[in-house]
Amino acid sequence: MMYLKRSLCSLAFAAAALLSATSATAQERKNDWNYIGAEGLVSSDTIKRGDYTLIFINKKEGFPEALKTRMIETFFTVYPKQASTYNPNTRKQVIFLIDPAYDGVAATAGSIIRYNPAWFDKHPGDIDVVTHEAMHIIQGYRRGGPGWVTEGIADYVRHTMGVDNAGAGWNLTPFSPSQNYDNAYRITARFFVWIEKNYKKDLVVKLDDVMRRGQYNEGLWKEWTGKDLSELWKSYAANPVI
Ligand SMILES: [Zn+2]
Repeated sequence: MMYLKRSLCSLAFAAAALLSATSATAQERKNDWNYIGAEGLVSSDTIKRGDYTLIFINKKEGFPEALKTRMIETFFTVYPKQASTYNPNTRKQVIFLIDPAYDGVAATAGSIIRYNPAWFDKHPGDIDVVTHEAMHIIQGYRRGGPGWVTEGIADYVRHTMGVDNAGAGWNLTPFSPSQNYDNAYRITARFFVWIEKNYKKDLVVKLDDVMRRGQYNEGLWKEWTGKDLSELWKSYAANPVI
């Protein structure tokens, strides 16, 4: 399920587990975010370090070995940090699936992160797609809450914990008056950075927690900062320095 048409990733929690792999047609499989399947399998590696296990399933012939190694290293660098900061009870086992049949950038459902190898052909330095998607596993929101908050948090964490955003030419979108807080991704992430600087320094930790517990509501902004969302955005727009 795409949250925004030009999104860097898509959330598919709702679409997960709707279909059984045994009876699914090819088209149904395309819509089943939990489906892995053996067809086209090039390699499967299981890497265990400390508390965490990564299963790296590659379905793309010629997927660069150096990139694979870098994705694995990035996972083991960022995921334990994300877990200790945001959700120590997160899943201990994660699956990376290099899936040439997937035509987005990357998508996360349950414990599976699906990557489109064609994206990395064009953007080989964009390693912190891993950081953004791994955060979606940490989030594990199953009880609703706005999509712009979910994606804003994932890009906030890419900004704060990314291993090489500069190398990818990735940064928080500079403020412009046409934006709004619910534009999601980097626009929302920058707004969160600004709120932490000016009003509540543990905003994202708190926000992530209420989202996971299904306790998000708009009244929290006022409770945490003394201003509601539109007042906060107005102040941000008046002085968007971070
Ligand atoms: Zn995302």
